[in-house]
Amino acid sequence: MSTCTERMTELTQDYSLPPQKVPVFNPRTLLPSEITVLKQEISELLCQRDAVLVAHYYVDSDVQDLALETHGCVADSLEMARFGSNHPASTLVVAGVRFMGETAKILSPDKTVIMPTLQAECSLDLGCPPQEFSTFCQDHSDRTVVVYANTSAEVKAMSDWVVTSSVGLKIVEYLAHQNKKILWAPDKHLGHYIQQQTGADMLLWSGACVVHEEFKFEALRKMKNLYPSAGLLVHPESPAAVIELADMVGSTSQILRAASELPHEMFIVATDRGLLHQMRKAEPEKRFIEAPTAGQGATCRSCAHCPWMAMNELEKVRDSLLMLDNEVFVEPDIARRAMIPLQRMLDFPN
Ligand code: SF4
Repeated sequence: MSTCTERMTELTQDYSLPPQKVPVFNPRTLLPSEITVLKQEISELLCQRDAVLVAHYYVDSDVQDLALETHGCVADSLEMARFGSNHPASTLVVAGVRFMGETAKILSPDKTVIMPTLQAECSLDLGCPPQEFSTFCQDHSDRTVVVYANTSAEVKAMSDWVVTSSVGLKIVEYLAHQNKKILWAPDKHLGHYIQQQTGADMLLWSGACVVHEEFKFEALRKMKNLYPSAGLLVHPESPAAVIELADMVGSTSQILRAASELPHEMFIVATDRGLLHQMRKAEPEKRFIEAPTAGQGATCRSCAHCPWMAMNELEKVRDSLLMLDNEVFVEPDIARRAMIPLQRMLDFPN
């Protein structure tokens, strides 16, 4: 293991997903008339099923629009779970990836939680297998286990704290003030960023997001030279060299807010391009450019759009409501144990 900062920041073996394990997914392009019909069908089914559509910022823009038009929500993973548990509907349709469906089920055990597809995974979740993670925790039992929300319910159940990218920094800062040594999983870039910001003693699992890891320093530097007045907004799941170029580093909701609050008229955005839909709606006068994913080491398996998020197509939303299949279940004992660190995060003053 290597020590790469003054305080110990060690990495486990590499758990980044190899490119060949990342699916190539090309959603079917729909005609405007097909979109209109599908949206109408889904709206009616939502009423009939007493259901609400809860969508992530990275899913298809038509699904995002429909969620808002039907009084559901478009949010980051934490707000999706909160919204779902506070909403009176008996069925939640979670348009996102599997861990989001699981979190919704844990927070709303009495509700039916369905997803447009159960094939929507996440490279961070897949890169943190519960058995290996359990051994890692046992080998470092003196450490407080902090896991990112992008993990399976089983991994969450082994943790002391669950965090999202919007609260991770504050929670680690709080733990560091109590002289806690931290075991962090699964995103190495986010873990490294938080370690640098807080100076906390962190032992890092070595997973990565296939979307954010594709942003490359050299390509971004060239783009900044091309658009010198543009602000660069970067998600902290990106590599450290990319983060260093940023004008602002933050979670999806913090990036969205920064686009309104910062004075720039133009932004380069280094996160999943799905977020640009809400940014353009919120700030129609400003210009938003996708950060490039080309450059040495880029495979472009994702090209700034999560292939698993892309699986949440309108037709699949409709079909899941029609059939009421794709239901998410979490084993009750795992759900009970995962709820403890999740509740700590929800109760943490934000
Ligand atoms: S964008 Fe990255 S972190 Fe988010 S679901 Fe896709 S693979 Fe996981």
